[in-house]
Amino acid sequence: MNKHIKSLALLQRLIAFDTTSYKSNIELINQIQQLLEQYQIDVQLNFNQDKTKANLFASTGPVGEAGILLSGHSDVVPVAGQQWDTPAFSAVIKQDRVYGRGTADMKGFLACAIHAMLDASQCQLKRPLQLCISYDEEIGCIGVRGILQHLSETLKPPLVCVIGEPTMMQMALAHKGKTVYQARCCGEEGHSALAPRFVNAIHVAGQLIQSLQQTQQYIALQGQQDHGYDIPYSTIHVGKISGGMALNIVPNQCIVDYEIRNLAQDSSAEIQHLIFDQISEDYQSHIEINQVNEYPGLKTSPTVQAVEFIQQLLPSETTQANISFGTEGGLFQNAMNCPVIVCGPGDIAVAHKPNEYVSLDQLQQCEIFLEKLVATITA
Ligand SMILES: [Zn+2]
Repeated sequence: MNKHIKSLALLQRLIAFDTTSYKSNIELINQIQQLLEQYQIDVQLNFNQDKTKANLFASTGPVGEAGILLSGHSDVVPVAGQQWDTPAFSAVIKQDRVYGRGTADMKGFLACAIHAMLDASQCQLKRPLQLCISYDEEIGCIGVRGILQHLSETLKPPLVCVIGEPTMMQMALAHKGKTVYQARCCGEEGHSALAPRFVNAIHVAGQLIQSLQQTQQYIALQGQQDHGYDIPYSTIHVGKISGGMALNIVPNQCIVDYEIRNLAQDSSAEIQHLIFDQISEDYQSHIEINQVNEYPGLKTSPTVQAVEFIQQLLPSETTQANISFGTEGGLFQNAMNCPVIVCGPGDIAVAHKPNEYVSLDQLQQCEIFLEKLVATITA
């Protein structure tokens, strides 16, 4: 017999919406809004420009007090090209696990968090319980930025923000940030027999790549270290390069895609300056660098009160660790000026893959955690 998981029926409804990032999430958001409003919970939506996607913010309890903020994203990664044993957009329960796209990342948490909101709405609260659901997280934490400015202007900084990304209900206090760059290295085309007369775009790219490696070495030896990570320093990586048309033409263009994954205490902009400064001046003017995307790192001090507060609500064996993947946590930390903790049901190791699942046990652990959390703010 299955454990009684009260969020399960809602999770099944959420999984049925195909909210792959490039699609609309409006139907899912409308369902959640209706459900919350049935319980007289105040809901605000924040739309993208063409109104095909929305962030949702909900609050229950006294207005104007510092609250507890639960946060998750509504979008999921594509299933195209993946071999699933069950239909990806239908929650299938097999042997104490719920299978389906987004069960771990992160509709399992959303279902538990929405239930916690409904339960909290039936209680006399001393402080508000708040819920933020974003869109377009999976493509670079894009959507949440649209609502964070508004929340930062209208809300008191929460006591704590819990991001429910899958950590197997362990506490994560830090992850690296990421900045993605595309460099367009320019040269001039010419007959290769006269090659020295022309600037070779691939040679320019070669200097850039050399500088990426040199800067990485420098950071590894001289930069800040956090031994909570497998790689304890900020990393630099070139992942794609394309240039040149034919061997007998001096290439006029070479595109280099690279990234910086920075410790929260390092600035990716400063690292980018180090990279650029090492390129010879005559080549610098041949490189045009575009920042494609960025999200900040997260670093919550283990000594802040919020960490102890959350730790008490979790099983005593709960660990505090850094995570290797990014979240919206750094954006919340910067915008809301509050401690941020990542803690949610399911395993990141099964996310983004076929046959993604969350165990019923994880869902139950999350429900128990959120019940205890609500109890702390109940009068
Ligand atoms: Zn996620």
